[in-house]
Amino acid sequence: MSNNENTDPLDRVQDQLKKCVKCGACRQNCPAFNAFQREPAVARGKIALAQHVLADDIELDDQTYTAMSKCLLCGSCVEKCPNSVPTDEIVIAARESLAKKRGLTTFHSAVGQVIKSRARMKMGAKMASLLGPMFFKKVPENSGLRLRFPMPFVGNQRFIPQVAKNNFIDRHPEVIPGEPGKPRIAFFVGCMTNFVYTEVGEAALKLFKHLGCTVIIPKEQQCCGLPGMSGGDIGTVRELAEKNLVEFEKYEVDYVMSACATCGGALHRLYPLVVGKRNPELRERLESLAKKTVDAAQLLYQLGLNPAETGSGEKLRITYHDPCHLRTRGLSKQPRELLKSTPGIELVEMEGADRCCGLGGTFNVYHYESSMNINDAKSEAIIATGGGAVATGCPGCMMQLSDGLKQHESDVEVMHTLQLLARTIKP
Ligand code: SF4
Ligand code: SF4
Repeated sequence: MSNNENTDPLDRVQDQLKKCVKCGACRQNCPAFNAFQREPAVARGKIALAQHVLADDIELDDQTYTAMSKCLLCGSCVEKCPNSVPTDEIVIAARESLAKKRGLTTFHSAVGQVIKSRARMKMGAKMASLLGPMFFKKVPENSGLRLRFPMPFVGNQRFIPQVAKNNFIDRHPEVIPGEPGKPRIAFFVGCMTNFVYTEVGEAALKLFKHLGCTVIIPKEQQCCGLPGMSGGDIGTVRELAEKNLVEFEKYEVDYVMSACATCGGALHRLYPLVVGKRNPELRERLESLAKKTVDAAQLLYQLGLNPAETGSGEKLRITYHDPCHLRTRGLSKQPRELLKSTPGIELVEMEGADRCCGLGGTFNVYHYESSMNINDAKSEAIIATGGGAVATGCPGCMMQLSDGLKQHESDVEVMHTLQLLARTIKP
């Protein structure tokens, strides 16, 4: 239970709010500002708005809510800010404050109900895989799906990946033993890998087994909660953080590994920040979980994976997209180094590889058109490299990049870094 349940969440960031000197440097590379071209969309505007919400001198109407929803939490403004104002943290607090004062939106309440229950998610995924053909049509020459008719929040222009028939966690035993003396790793799978991009999970297993590691896949792990964070539903984030904490504390491991930049970012930074900061009982335990949390490519690099030793693969020119949740953790070099040393792969840098792809959690659902406008530059940059594939380290980015490339009628393949690294390893 939090020790300050009744205070305004914005109280926590009062000092941070004061650090903004309104210089406007955060406009540079802000995808939301690029998409909307209006001051409220940029960090400076959101900080001013948050100050008004805290002072209680602004109407908390739909306009205020919408203005605060126009942020992808990409962290570019934090990197550009001369005063290191943590706008992402401020936006999270402001969304929580608005949710407390106005209530959650219908959409975000529904999201919370789904992500809180793994059983419900499993049932939803099963239904989606069985009833998919009724609602979706397969797009010829592409592997994506399109809705046959528009549904709330999912227009029929969007390309959607197929849900897997069997989820990744249920396919595998809880403990996959490795060699004595080698690292023990707990795998935080994440919903996108579990239900959609199961091939990413399989590639991770193949790579860590190749290195002799013991891999543990805790069966009762939950969604990381990030979709709830987008709408200010911190109660759901807290509930999921606690459940995941208990589940991952059951095992003695050297690392908690995630192949999803977003889930890894939640465990590594947001759990201690959003849940731990106001809950002294959980703080230390969440910080210890955060310290153990590593990205899959980061860990493979650290453990000395040498793709050159595993044989040669077919020649492929690729480019790499930096997921925001890896870039802001300083993890840009490791995936690139591994990819560059993989036989057959030629890595060509695209323009703006470090720019957000436009997903931004539920931003992509609420502001789909703007999300795809942000993505246009990314798709064009990928296509301009002349490569056959784009690699990235986040299944969420994979979905967004696939949608963008298909909208551009491109057949560039979207792959997870781990899939490319695992190509030459025998099962
Ligand atoms: S760059 Fe930082 S200090 Fe300057 S306006 Fe933006 S948030 Fe404020
Ligand atoms: S986190 Fe990203 S989208 Fe949000 S204000 Fe900062 S730069 Fe803009």
